[in-house]
Amino acid sequence: MDEVIKLNMETKFREMLNKIQAYNYVFALIGWDSNTEAPRNSFKRRAEVMGILSKELFALQTAKEYKDVIIGLYEKIDTLDDNLKREIKKAKKDLDKVVNIPEEEYVEYTKLIQMSQLVWEDAKKNNDYASFKENLKQIIEFNKKFALYYAPEKNPYDTMLDDYEEGMTTKEYDEFFNKLKKDLVPFVKEILSHGNSDYDKLINDYFDPKKQQEFCDYLTDVLKFDRNSGLMKKSVHPFTWNTSPEDVRFTTRYLENYVFSSIFAAIHELGHATYEQQISTEWDGTLLHGGTSMGIHESQSRFYENIVGRSLAFWETHLDKFKSLFPDQTKGLTPMDMYKAVNKAEASMIRVEADELTYSLHIMLRYDIERKMVSGEVTVDDLPELWNSLMEEYLGIKPKNDSEGVLQDVHWSGGMIGYFPTYALGTAYSAQIYYAMLKDLNLEEIIKANQIEKVNKWLKEKIHKYGSSKTPKELMLEVTGEDFDAKYYIKYLKDKYTNIYLK
Ligand SMILES: [Zn+2]
Repeated sequence: MDEVIKLNMETKFREMLNKIQAYNYVFALIGWDSNTEAPRNSFKRRAEVMGILSKELFALQTAKEYKDVIIGLYEKIDTLDDNLKREIKKAKKDLDKVVNIPEEEYVEYTKLIQMSQLVWEDAKKNNDYASFKENLKQIIEFNKKFALYYAPEKNPYDTMLDDYEEGMTTKEYDEFFNKLKKDLVPFVKEILSHGNSDYDKLINDYFDPKKQQEFCDYLTDVLKFDRNSGLMKKSVHPFTWNTSPEDVRFTTRYLENYVFSSIFAAIHELGHATYEQQISTEWDGTLLHGGTSMGIHESQSRFYENIVGRSLAFWETHLDKFKSLFPDQTKGLTPMDMYKAVNKAEASMIRVEADELTYSLHIMLRYDIERKMVSGEVTVDDLPELWNSLMEEYLGIKPKNDSEGVLQDVHWSGGMIGYFPTYALGTAYSAQIYYAMLKDLNLEEIIKANQIEKVNKWLKEKIHKYGSSKTPKELMLEVTGEDFDAKYYIKYLKDKYTNIYLK
C-alpha cells in the first residue's frame, strides 16, 4: 500500500513539474529573444504576455497539491532512490525558502528590486551613490530577513552564500580569501610593479568586427561545439543560454578597438556551453538538469578561457588563422608575443575587464564588503570609502569616482548578495581540476594537435554528464581526489606569471 501511495505521489510530482518546466521553457525562449534579436518596440506586448504567464506559473509552483506531494515524498525521503531523493531535497528547499515569506513582503521586495535596477542605472550614470544607497539598504534588510525566515539559527550570510554555491559558508570562504590575501596579494604587487606596455598597440588596434566574428566562428569549431545542438549570436553582455543539452546558445560581443574581448568572451561562454551540451539528457525535465552550481559552471568557462585559451600552446596552434584574418595588425607577431599580450596583467578599476591575475582580488573586495554589510559591521554610508580603501590595499589603485567604484556592478541592485564569491571560487576550482586532468592527459600536446575533443570527453565523464545530480563538493572530491584547496590556484598563477614576467 505504501508503495502505491509513493508511486502515485511521484507520478503527480512529475506531472506538475512537467508543466512548470514547460512554462520555464517558454520564459527562457522569450528571454533569449529579448536579449538578442527582438526589436526595441516589442517590449510592451512581451511584458503583457509575461505578466499573464508568470501568474499561471506562480499558481502552479505554490499550488497546494504540489506542496503536498513534495512534503509527502520528503517524509519518505529515506525510501527514495538517490536521484529522486536529491530532487525532492531540492524541491523542499525551494519550497521552504518561499513559504515562510509573508506574501506582502515578497511583493514589496519584487517591486523594490524592479525599481532598484533603474535607480542603480541612473546612479551609475550620474555618479550619484547617495541616490542609490537607500535602495541598497532596503535590499540588504530584506535579504537578511528572508534568510532568517528560512534558517533562524544560521548566520544569514551563510544562507545567502549557500543559495549560489551549495554547501559553502563564510567559514570556508574566509579560509579561501585569507589564503589569497596572504599568498596572492604580495605576488600580484610584485608582478604589477614590472609594468608591461609592449603590446598595447596590438591590444587597442582597430579590428574589423566582421572579421572578429569569423575568428570566433573558427574558435567554435576548434572547441568542437556541436552546432546541431546550439548556436552563437552577439549581444551587449555575453552570456550562455540553454533549455536542454540539445539547445545551447551563447553570445559574444565585438569591440572594434579591443579584439580580445570577443575572443575571450567567446571561449569563456563556449566553456559554459560545452558543459551544458555534455550533460546527459536523462536529466531533462527533472530538477537535476543543467550545471550543478555557479562555481562549477564558472570553473568550466574559466578553464577553457584561461587555461586553454590563454596558453602558449593555443596561440602556437591558432595564431596563423588569426594572422590570416588580420595581416596588417599582426605583422611579425609571434606566438610568444600573442601569449604575452593576452596575459597582460594590470591593476584596473573594473572587475569585468580584469585580467586573470588580478581578477579574484576584485571578488575578494566584494566578499569583504558583503560580509560586513550583512553582519551590520558597516552601513551603506560607509561603502564608498570602504570600497576605495580596499582597492588601494589589494590593487594599489583608487577609483576616481563611485561609478567606477562601488556602483560598477549590477548584482546588488538585483538583490544578488552572496553571488560574487562564486566567480573567484569557480576560477580557483578550475586550477585544481586542471592539475587533476594532467594526471590523465597531456593538455599541451592535445591543444597543439587541435584535439580538444579529448579534453571535452574527460570533462564530460568526470563532471558534465552528471548535471545537478551531484553537489559541487561531491564533484570536487571525486574529480580531484580531495576537497577544494586554494593552493592549486595560487600555484597555477605563480607558475604562469613568474614565467611570463620574472624570467
Ligand atoms: Zn561565466
